[in-house]
Amino acid sequence: MFCSCSTNYFEKEPNTHVCPTCLGLPGALPVPNRRAIELCILLGLATNCDIDSEIHFDRKHYFYPDLPKGYQISQYKRAICSDGYIDIKDEDGKKYTIEIERIHQEEDVAKSTHHKQGDSEYSLIDYNKSGVPLIEIVSKPNIKSAYQAREYASSIRQLVRYLNISDGDMEKGQMRCEPNISVQEKGKWEYRDGKILPLGDYKLNPKSEVKNIGSISAVEKSILYEVERMVKELEEGKELIQQTRGWNADKGITEFQRSKETADDYRYMPEPDIPIIEIKDEDIERISKEIVELPSEKKERYISSYSLSDYDSTVLTADKNISTYFEDLLSLLSKSMDTVKAAKAASNWITGTVFSIANDRKIEVNEKNIPKASLAYLILEFEKKVLTKNKAESLLKESIEQKKDLKELVQISLSESKQNTDNLDSIVDEVINNNPKAVNDYKSGKQSTIGFLVGQVMQKTKGSADPNKAKDILIQKLNG
Ligand SMILES: [Zn+2]
Repeated sequence: MFCSCSTNYFEKEPNTHVCPTCLGLPGALPVPNRRAIELCILLGLATNCDIDSEIHFDRKHYFYPDLPKGYQISQYKRAICSDGYIDIKDEDGKKYTIEIERIHQEEDVAKSTHHKQGDSEYSLIDYNKSGVPLIEIVSKPNIKSAYQAREYASSIRQLVRYLNISDGDMEKGQMRCEPNISVQEKGKWEYRDGKILPLGDYKLNPKSEVKNIGSISAVEKSILYEVERMVKELEEGKELIQQTRGWNADKGITEFQRSKETADDYRYMPEPDIPIIEIKDEDIERISKEIVELPSEKKERYISSYSLSDYDSTVLTADKNISTYFEDLLSLLSKSMDTVKAAKAASNWITGTVFSIANDRKIEVNEKNIPKASLAYLILEFEKKVLTKNKAESLLKESIEQKKDLKELVQISLSESKQNTDNLDSIVDEVINNNPKAVNDYKSGKQSTIGFLVGQVMQKTKGSADPNKAKDILIQKLNG
């Protein structure tokens, strides 16, 4: 955020992406990363926030080995973006609006790991992550269930991926969620002006904050756990205390870490080494051009322009890479088909066969694994009814499993099948000659034997013959 060390630190040798600034050495000065600030503004614009006209950085002090300067450069009173919102889909399928209080810019801290060797315990610190740009999004307390929190987190992740702000990979620490949870008595409080306010002489219960959450599903689980824990304590007559807890994914529980600090404990002060940065209208206008079609808009377009179902549109737009793959495939198919029909075909193939094969083989759906031009060729041959669904699917599987060119496989299969069709007459003769018992059975009235004979033809043609055609020729020859 304030130096030029690479952010590509994942699984890199510890302390190799460092410089005097991110190590917090005396005399090193911070230089704000312009692109990081632009991305923060971009996220604010995409979440309907007001954008401040000036950027003010502040120092947030605390003492911990992962913070070599003794303070983190963050934003306190004024955040770059404020008062926004994002719509999610609630459990009942209806739209619910999550209000956003602020989005501010700050820097990440180093990573410490704790080890044990025999009787001695020690900690190691890796400063590669120190100084990596962070965007903190603070929502207002109008999230009412663990389900909504999970949907909110996954919508934010989808958004940052669509806008190329971050890969949002929680396993790599590129996105973290810290739910703040409180439980209050029914009818004793109200939500007004972005705050939870007590009614009458009711005293609000304090909140807890959960850290180290490593997946979207853990967001939901940790909240459900906390709600149950707090309700139990209240029912036992205990008084809740404001605290920070850690999520233990192995045990599926939250664990006490510390009583929550207040803003005073951080001794915030304006960062004297960074001047106030002005944000001009033309900057905002330029940045707003980076807003691409967002997932919800894309979904609506798929439904209205391509007549796709709500479900298919949701699945196709969930991941930006998939929607791009779909749109590319669609444009290839549209050259030979009506667009709505092509969209239906592309959607059916991707959400059906392609996803199922990709899941089984644990591969990603992309150009490298399944080239779009080859898939389009396969789909068109299937649509022409030259390939059966079974045959088309097995060719697709074969190309992925054996890393063979799909288009080539389809062409070989088509030429084999043409040859077989040409030879069908003689293959039927062969089957009749080789199966005198079945032929006699059929002639003496046992009609069901025809199925067996068709099966023999299919076996000889390795499944490429049209079974109905084979049956017709068989009947013709046997009756003739
Ligand atoms: Zn650095």
